[in-house]
Amino acid sequence: MALLEARQVIKKFGGLTAVNGIDYTLEKGVIASIIGPNGAGKTTFFNLVTGINPLTSGELIFDGHSLNRRTPDQIAYFGILRTFQNIRLFASMTAIENVLVGMHTRLLSGVGDVLFSTRRMAREEKEAVRTALDLLAYCGLKGHGDEQARNLAYGDQRRLEIARALASQPKLLLLDEPTAGMNPKETESTTALIRRLRDELGVTILLIEHHMQVVMGISERVTVLDYGVKIAEGTPQEVQRDPRVIEAYLGRGAAGQGVSAGGGA
Ligand code: ADP
Ligand code: MG
Repeated sequence: MALLEARQVIKKFGGLTAVNGIDYTLEKGVIASIIGPNGAGKTTFFNLVTGINPLTSGELIFDGHSLNRRTPDQIAYFGILRTFQNIRLFASMTAIENVLVGMHTRLLSGVGDVLFSTRRMAREEKEAVRTALDLLAYCGLKGHGDEQARNLAYGDQRRLEIARALASQPKLLLLDEPTAGMNPKETESTTALIRRLRDELGVTILLIEHHMQVVMGISERVTVLDYGVKIAEGTPQEVQRDPRVIEAYLGRGAAGQGVSAGGGA
């Protein structure tokens, strides 16, 4: 069953076509990746799905809802959450506070409760803090709850972004380069975390990733973009062998950035 569907999605920025007629189907419950050279339109595609940028044309459908002309808040409410290529945390807030921000849409207190039952609010807040601590532990951040986000190690900041997204109970999680800048050990634990999100929590995962070992290791489906166009799609094995993919990565004199090598564009 398709959870996310893109039909002929186009995004133009002035004279530049960043996403150029993408058709895409993401099945529920899978871990899928989008790869491609820098500037291929990967992040732009995430920005369209999450409502940060409006489509120029085409349609996006998630779980029976059209996403066209929706705000990021509405799209988050439908169940699409994300992390960012350039980490976007509230730097001077603690790790717990960052997760609580992610939870705010899910807290039960309505306006009436705020006015008439502060006791209920206090109880919910206590539960929220407990849930936030659980999420932090789940993401490998046990004991870091009271640290300011800016003081966390880089890899921990990336995992805190995942914890914050989880707080909104995503059906679909979009991860934009979740292991960027991580050392091999952090990369390994983050990869394991991503797998658990799907296996244990049932979250469908779509990631943009340059670490080919990560991509090929956890993805069931890989889509390759180049200049805003989908040039290949399939299992990791199929995509790695595809001449168009090899050309996109190697055909521009980018030695050492092979699809099967540790690096990537
Ligand atoms: P990727 O994530 O695949 O590296 P991006 O989606 O970030 O690529 O960018 C695709 C193209 O769109 C690039 O040429 C980039 O400069 C351009 N682009 C992305 N966002 C904007 C924007 N807000 N305004 C203008 N151009 C943009
Ligand atoms: Mg990008």
